[in-house]
Amino acid sequence: MLELSMYIDGEWRQGSGNGKREIINPANGEVIAQAAEGNVSDVRAAVQAAREAFDRGPWPGLSAEERAGYLLKAAAKIDERHDELAALETLDNGKPLREAGYDVSDAAACFRYYAGLIPAPHGETYTVPDNMQAMVIREPIGVCGLIVPWNYPLLMSVWKIAPALAAGNAIVYKPSELTPVTATKLFEILEETGLPKGVANMVMGAGETVGNEIAVSHGVDMISFTGGTDTGRRIMKAASGNMKKISLELGGKSPNIIFADADFESAVDYALFGIYAGAGQICSAGSRILVEESIKDAFVARFTERANKIRVGAGGDPETEMGPLVSQEQLDKVLRYIEIGKAEGAEIACGGFRLTGRDYDNGFFVAPTAFIDTEPGMRIVQEEIFGPVAVFQTFRDETEAVRLANETKYGLAGAVFTKDAARAMRVIKKVRAGITWVNTYHGTYNEAPWHGYKQSGIGSSLGTYGLDEFLETKQINFNLDGGPSGWFSG
Ligand code: NDP
Repeated sequence: MLELSMYIDGEWRQGSGNGKREIINPANGEVIAQAAEGNVSDVRAAVQAAREAFDRGPWPGLSAEERAGYLLKAAAKIDERHDELAALETLDNGKPLREAGYDVSDAAACFRYYAGLIPAPHGETYTVPDNMQAMVIREPIGVCGLIVPWNYPLLMSVWKIAPALAAGNAIVYKPSELTPVTATKLFEILEETGLPKGVANMVMGAGETVGNEIAVSHGVDMISFTGGTDTGRRIMKAASGNMKKISLELGGKSPNIIFADADFESAVDYALFGIYAGAGQICSAGSRILVEESIKDAFVARFTERANKIRVGAGGDPETEMGPLVSQEQLDKVLRYIEIGKAEGAEIACGGFRLTGRDYDNGFFVAPTAFIDTEPGMRIVQEEIFGPVAVFQTFRDETEAVRLANETKYGLAGAVFTKDAARAMRVIKKVRAGITWVNTYHGTYNEAPWHGYKQSGIGSSLGTYGLDEFLETKQINFNLDGGPSGWFSG
């Protein structure tokens, strides 16, 4: 059994209220860890430590080379502990070991990417009247509150921590209450890099207490949040007290548009990957599959044939292709949506039930599920289910495909499958989403921004855009001849 502590002001601590939370393996319901449960006063202590480190400590003033050195050390240590971190991620989140391994490698690569951006030239100069020099410099914001969900516990944390530290900020970070295991390992790694105390703080606990306090605190200058759209809305309100800068990566209901001229097998393959990777618990999942009417029957037949063969099981089993849902609550939510879909009149094409039997009974497993005969207004078409549930929609032409694709409140991701390059470009440009693919799905790169349109978010992660989120912009106008303004005569 693992004992997980919080990390505040360079020390490992229990919560001041001595609360504990049991952490569950979603594959079998066993308790794998006891996590310290933080409260409002723990957040206040963490904010105070971060303020001290930022306002009076050496961290924001380090040279680029020195700061990049910490991030490179973190990357190397993540690589060294790759297998251990992947195994713990699988134990805590349930995802297959193969997926967890990719997350760990991506986490190390993300630290390296931002380490590489630190020494890059920043700022600008402007041509203004001769006696003045105008310039723009970039500065860290101060104390950043970072709040992440449970679906990529390590990777989502690094997507925020790496750019926040690269920019020279101090951080107060909160993992999901369900998945704090790799977060604590990441903080062990940050400690081993020798980061000055107070620069990186971690408080564990519930969103309504710990998360909310980070969002309302006047000691926090910026909040970067990844999670559900409704939580994002609450955070916006909570953050308004001191006009924090906010960056929100929220939910999605992303369209995967398949034209009749697409490479059939490849489109089926990516449609499966788009929705069932991560058991559908991916914000950018291709959860709405829009298929051209003329190939609908053949497409659904091949899709369901392959969906029924997906090997569902414990993430630690190397044979497993799809793991469990993260929690009993998430299982209940997904099963509830399956019932809603049936009640709305949609037909189940595959799955539609909780998996039972010796290997499944104590875990949170749902069969890969797909609905056909849907209508655009149905809740299963409009709302994020966040589980292995695809909804099929059909279209007759390009115009209808684009209209249906854009007909939700979300705008996170989208894909188009066709061999007609001009059509691919026409359609993808009209999809109102920040992350898009042509004849592929799910590939993400540290270099490119991760960004949601509409109610899928505000601001960006990753790329130079992701670094900009954690920087302020200052103009400096320098009087070169030192003379007076001459504005007033007296
Ligand atoms: P939630 O919105 O429930 O929670 C996300 C984080 O916010 C958790 O750490 C949670 O704490 C915390 N939180 C909850 N309530 C509050 C509050 N009032 N104030 C401050 N913090 C709070 O999302 P889930 O964890 O259920 O994750 C799934 C969601 O995340 C999906 O909607 C998914 O689309 C989205 N997501 C978006 C991504 C993107 O890049 N756009 C990427 C990954 C996921 P706790 O749970 O510990 O109580």
